[in-house]
Amino acid sequence: MKICLFDIDGTLVNTAGAGKDAMIDSFQSTAGIDVQTTGVRVSGKTDRGIATELFGDAGKQLTEDVWEKFLSSYMAGLARNLPLRQGRVLPGIVELLDQLAEREDIALGLLTGNVAQGAYLKLTHYDLMHHFAFGGYGDLHPDRNDVAQAAKDACESHLGQAVAGDQIWVIGDTANDVRCARHIGAKALAVATGVFDRDVLAQSEPDLLMDDLADAAEFLDALAQ
Ligand SMILES: [Mg+2]
Repeated sequence: MKICLFDIDGTLVNTAGAGKDAMIDSFQSTAGIDVQTTGVRVSGKTDRGIATELFGDAGKQLTEDVWEKFLSSYMAGLARNLPLRQGRVLPGIVELLDQLAEREDIALGLLTGNVAQGAYLKLTHYDLMHHFAFGGYGDLHPDRNDVAQAAKDACESHLGQAVAGDQIWVIGDTANDVRCARHIGAKALAVATGVFDRDVLAQSEPDLLMDDLADAAEFLDALAQ
């Protein structure tokens, strides 16, 4: 059994800013934090981590109560934005997921910084959610390494068996995806379909580095090893 844990943004889909803009609006409306002027890098980070960082920068405390308010505003904005943006599923993803889903020796899960509801909204919008029965999400953990562990735990619960790190491939578009793969002893495929190009991703030393998954043969070969 092999397990593929997919990142969402920049790996499966590009929402054309639907998520980031909803998040920026919610920082403003629920906490008065103006992210437009300070800027924020969201790639490879978890939603909880981004919120913790921005609240800290603004000298505010992210209590559970404030987090809940922020989240409900963010999810409403995300649901509103998704159909209004010209987002897209990234090259080859539909074909790859269809192909992997047919195989009984492969399990598909998510390893994303998105909160679970955000992941659900995005992947339902792009008609990919049905492929993923389990995952690790960015609700609780500021650090992606902890999300990777949560995804591995969720995978073991789903399969009803222990899984070794080297049975797992983490597929993502940032150095943080590669780093969190190492944390659970997994292999890493980095794809240059997000904001980082090949040269930047190469520095994180993934097991495999691809421009995109339009032709996934190289990955399928590596998966079979
Ligand atoms: Mg990503």
